[in-house]
Amino acid sequence: MIQGAESRYSRQFRFAPVGPEGQERIRSASVVLVGCGALGTVTAEILTRAGVGRLRLIDRDFVELSNLQRQFLFSEADAAEALPKAVAAARRLGQVNSEVVAEPVVADLTPASAEELLEGATLIMDGTDNFEARFLMNDYAVRSGIPWIYSAAVGSYGLKLAIVPGRTACLRCVYPEPPQGSQPTCETDGVLAPITASIAALACGDALKILARGPESVTARMTTVDVWTGAVRQTAPPARDPGCPCCVARDFVHLTGQRRAPISLCGRNAVQIHERSRPVDLRELASRLAPLVEVRSNDFAVRASIDSYELTVFADGRAIIKGTTDPGVARSLYARYVGM
Ligand SMILES: [Zn+2]
Repeated sequence: MIQGAESRYSRQFRFAPVGPEGQERIRSASVVLVGCGALGTVTAEILTRAGVGRLRLIDRDFVELSNLQRQFLFSEADAAEALPKAVAAARRLGQVNSEVVAEPVVADLTPASAEELLEGATLIMDGTDNFEARFLMNDYAVRSGIPWIYSAAVGSYGLKLAIVPGRTACLRCVYPEPPQGSQPTCETDGVLAPITASIAALACGDALKILARGPESVTARMTTVDVWTGAVRQTAPPARDPGCPCCVARDFVHLTGQRRAPISLCGRNAVQIHERSRPVDLRELASRLAPLVEVRSNDFAVRASIDSYELTVFADGRAIIKGTTDPGVARSLYARYVGM
């Protein structure tokens, strides 16, 4: 009984704009969250406590000690086990609210995987740290007519913008092309937990409004916050671009194009190899590597320490190589220890 006087959600549906009907709509929603880092884990926890029906958690990475300062849901044990973030997050969320179906997906959002990963979403939440993934989400959301919420944070500064296809500007109306040149990142410039938590909370405010009251209820203002200077700004909703290639011309180049290189830099001093989706038998790989190098493994990944490098291989064949920014070195390690 979700409407009992002291039920789990009573404080939420007593808030009149949600009400029992809004709560029921929240319960019937399927939210897809892309990225389970600092923004994503806070988003996931709020939406799980709010009682969304299904929550798909997509993340390509594993938990590390340097995540714990700002990534809610994760513990030292998760980092010690090198659990995939999606798996660790889903475990914790299952303890928080067992009524929510949390579906962990350890995968990279790419043009090839986007259809399958984003399918069935009522709402898409952005917990990523890169424009490549955001343009992909934008293409998919506009094409499918699904709202999504763009969120970003670095240092002490962050912003969020709800995007409702057909009604508000889309991401490409605001940024026709991904920002060029070197951008500040959380690796190079650091990031404070209060900003990622603030932005995720603001994005979840829009999310609950969209779920409980419908996409037309949200005002697509861009909100920017700086927790260090204290500056909070609300800009007028950005104008739709009458020449937008995405939401006007419906040319979904990020979704259909193969713009993506098979090897990409992934954070500071790390390279990701994802050119092939070729399932790897992790048990077999771990036992093959064990006599050669130091190996740790769990059900989701195998990690090998090779000289000053650290090679982590996931079940879908993807790998993250730490200790280098040279794609050649990364490719060579992958070829030598996993095989091409
Ligand atoms: Zn547009």
